[in-house]
Amino acid sequence: MQQIEMVDLKGQYQHIKEEINAAIIAAVEEAAFINGPAVKAFAKELAEYNAVKHVIPCANGTDALQIAMMALGLQPGDEVIVPAFTYVATAEVIALLGLKPLFTEVDPATFNIDVKQLKEMLSPRTKAIVPVHLYGQCADMEPLLAFAKEHQLFIIEDTAQAIGAEYNFSNGKAQKAGTMGEIGATSFFPSKNLGCYGDGGALFTNDDAMAEKLQMIANHGQRVKYYHEVVGVNSRLDTIQAAVLRVKLRQLNSYINSRQKAAAYYDKALAAVEELELPFRSPSSSHVFHQYTLKIKNGKRDALKEYLAGKGIPSMVYYPVPLHLQQAYQSRDYGKGAFPVSEQLSQEVISLPMHTELTEEQLNYITTSVQSFFT
Ligand SMILES: *Cc1c(COP(=O)(O)O)cnc(C)c1O
Repeated sequence: MQQIEMVDLKGQYQHIKEEINAAIIAAVEEAAFINGPAVKAFAKELAEYNAVKHVIPCANGTDALQIAMMALGLQPGDEVIVPAFTYVATAEVIALLGLKPLFTEVDPATFNIDVKQLKEMLSPRTKAIVPVHLYGQCADMEPLLAFAKEHQLFIIEDTAQAIGAEYNFSNGKAQKAGTMGEIGATSFFPSKNLGCYGDGGALFTNDDAMAEKLQMIANHGQRVKYYHEVVGVNSRLDTIQAAVLRVKLRQLNSYINSRQKAAAYYDKALAAVEELELPFRSPSSSHVFHQYTLKIKNGKRDALKEYLAGKGIPSMVYYPVPLHLQQAYQSRDYGKGAFPVSEQLSQEVISLPMHTELTEEQLNYITTSVQSFFT
């Protein structure tokens, strides 16, 4: 059996090698390394895939979040609500811009922002909410959008883990992750569901004026070269990365399908293990399984991790410390116990290998190993 990887990018490359190599060589031969034709073409193709009006490529997912915050015209001291249980990038850019991250609790089943708990934290300075579609499943956007509208808050979706996931509204309409709020921000970090071969990111919006603003901020605040209207940043997706992403975008639905198949295998094989809680499938969102994340209910998460490692099976804990307890983000507002669900999840979650190349033999070995730990 082939060695099991958390993410198997080498194996994935083997299936698309010729197309990828040709795309990279074409980009190199054109020597249009910055803003070459592949960048525009990719933005257009991704906009079509997502059924969103504008895609603005940028250098990485963290930049995408920062550019989004800048475009909304938030002032120092304004508050932005973020889940306590997420990757640090979401809160980092808020703090960097002199804004105040307001941490909030997540739902124990979906791991996503708990809309019910938002009302009591609002102040006149609260300006935006950043739902994170964690592990590949959309946050509950319908009530969140209604809440944001009622209280005049912007929504920036962090869809770095959920590109391609689809949220179903009660009127039967479906929309792709990242296209429901004012702005969506995503990452093409290599291990993401749509990953390039370096760093990359993008912003999504359906608003023409916002698209122009985002584009301008990502490019030194200029619309016309050397005329700077606003303070911007330098954040570009380079042509070689865009060329890679064009090839991989054509595979994205098949990649999602492979992940869902692996998840279904895990679900079935692990259903009988009492000490585990399987990933919850939200009725209002598809799940693209960026991560397949179990909750270990008997306090033996770290022991399981070690046991699996001993059998050559990698696993990861996303995330071992919620943001409000991270040294960099500690404040008098939130001590230990402030967000019990997030704190408990950080003790219980473990993600099993999840990628597009998992074989039945590997899945069988992983699941029988998990079972044997608990028997
Ligand atoms: C990966 C990730 C990011 C940041 O993306 P980078 O491209 O690494 O900057 C932001 N938010 C979430 C939830 C992520 O998983």
